[in-house]
Parts: sequence; C-alpha cells; structure tokens
Amino acid sequence: MKVDLTGKVVIVTGGSKGIGKGIATVFAEQGAHVVIAARGMEAATDVANQLQAQGLSASAATVDVENYESVENYESVESMATEVANSFGSIDILCANAGIFPSMKLEDMTTDHWDQVLNVNARGTMFAVKACVPHLKKANAGRVIITSSITGPVTGYAGWTHYAASKAAQLGFMRTAALELAPYHITVNAVLPGNIATEGLDGLGDTYLQKMAKAIPFGSLGRVEDIAYAALFLSSKEAGFITGQSIIIDGGQTLPEDAEAF
Ligand code: NAP
Repeated sequence: MKVDLTGKVVIVTGGSKGIGKGIATVFAEQGAHVVIAARGMEAATDVANQLQAQGLSASAATVDVENYESVENYESVESMATEVANSFGSIDILCANAGIFPSMKLEDMTTDHWDQVLNVNARGTMFAVKACVPHLKKANAGRVIITSSITGPVTGYAGWTHYAASKAAQLGFMRTAALELAPYHITVNAVLPGNIATEGLDGLGDTYLQKMAKAIPFGSLGRVEDIAYAALFLSSKEAGFITGQSIIIDGGQTLPEDAEAF
C-alpha cells in the first residue's frame, strides 16, 4: 500500500512497542518523520535508531500520556507537542495509541485499578489529542487516529471491565472531537484491533494467546502491520472525507454467532 507521507510529521504515542511500533514503521516507510513517544526512553530510542538505520526519519520522546503537564521524569504531552512542532515544523498526524490492559475481576477492583486504566487509555487519549490540536489546526488537513479495541465497543471479556469502559470511552470522545475539529478539516477516526501479537499481549501468557488464536476465524493472531495499514489509510489524503468512524481489524473474531461455526 503506497500513501505518500513525505514531509508529514507524525506522533505515535506508545510507539516503542507492539502496535505503535508497527504504525511508526509503516508511516516512516511512507516518507513521514515519526516521533516515537513512550515513557521508556531506551525502548523509544531503540525504535528510532532502528528506523534511522534503514534510512528512515524518526526521533524519540519520553512522555507519559497520563500527564498534561510535566511530572517527575516524564515530559508532558503538552511540552512534547510544542517541542515536536518547534523542532520539525508541524504536527500533521497524531496516532493516539498508548494503552494498558491489566486484567482484574470486577469484585477485586479498587478505584486505583479503575483509575489507572481509565487515566492512561481514555484521559491519555484526550490529553494527547488536546495537546496536538493547536498544531493540527495549522497543518493542512490534520489527522488523528485513535487505537481503541473490539473489547468494549463491540465485545465484552471477563476481567477487563475497566479496559472495556476505557476503549468505549475513546469512541465517544472520537465522535465529538471529530465534530469539533471538522471546521479545520482535521479528521478523527479509530482503529479497533482484535487480538494482535504484541509485547503487551505476550504478557497475558501462552494459554490466553492460544485461546485467542482459536477464537479467530483466520486461525492466528493479527500482525501489528494489519493495524498499521488501516491507520495509514485513515491518514491518507484519499480518506479526507472520513471522520468520526472506526474500522475493526480482527481476522473475523467478532463475526461468529456460533463458536463452532468455523
Ligand atoms: P504494548 O505492546 O504493551 O505497547 C504499549 C505501548 O504503550 C508501549 O510503547 C508503552 O511504552 C506505551 N505506554 C504505556 N503506557 C503509557 C503511558 N502512560 N504514556 C505513554 N506511553 C505509554 O501494547 P499493544 O498491544 O501494542 O497495544 C497498543 C494499543 O492497542 C493499546 O491502546 C491497546 O489497548 C490497543 N489494543 C491492543 C490489542 C492487542 O491485541 N495487542 C487489541 C486491541 C487494542 P512504555 O511502557 O515505555 O510507556
């Protein structure tokens, strides 16, 4: 898939691993300068270095999307956005992808568990978008792509009530942000991954991974590139009239009415 992103500046939150790394790689391959934004500077710098070694344009930023203002060792999303715009001239595309998915049953859930997940996934998305809006307004047809999930917007999964709520919240946020930003021709859309092979998903263990692979009609977990290409389409000039929408990328996982139907 060829989309010309030459001269575009892209921030990918959570770009140091998994889906975010996949998005950053695919976008850099299309000519963009990608900013790999995550809390862990070492991993973010590693990804930026790997891309540079391939002749692509990338840099790293250490940011915690939980914070709108600078806290402790992390840059705030606001200072990161300002720094990126000053250093590279613009912010054209934001991929608000950073997210966490710890499992916790409802009966054991404390407000801390709930807040941790909602703060990163839902509030962090809002912070990242809010910080980039002044710069996206200056860009010619800015783009926001939010990484939500099938869990919450489409399906439920025991152990992830907080996560499901955060991922559904992202879509409610997306629709209204899309309206507010439409006058500036900024589009705001979402990708909804099914189960995709990432470092984060590995952390859920082999039993979970095998069970999920069996639940996918295509027979295996998705690849990070599967999500990246959907995000790339939503970033393209050609997708400029699509806003407030979402694309499920799940190898058919959400389709079956009968678990034995495939
Ligand atoms: P992952 O492999 O665990 O990577 C998560 C990335 O987010 C890392 O770069 C991590 O770096 C960063 N991150 C976490 N908390 C952050 C914070 N507070 N501030 C800034 N960066 C932060 O996860 P993944 O599987 O690729 O998931 C990425 C996104 O896809 C998430 O939003 C997730 O909900 C969504 N998703 C994933 C799947 C799947 O099957 N993998 C399915 C549906 C949706 P640091 O820890 O260094 O900050």
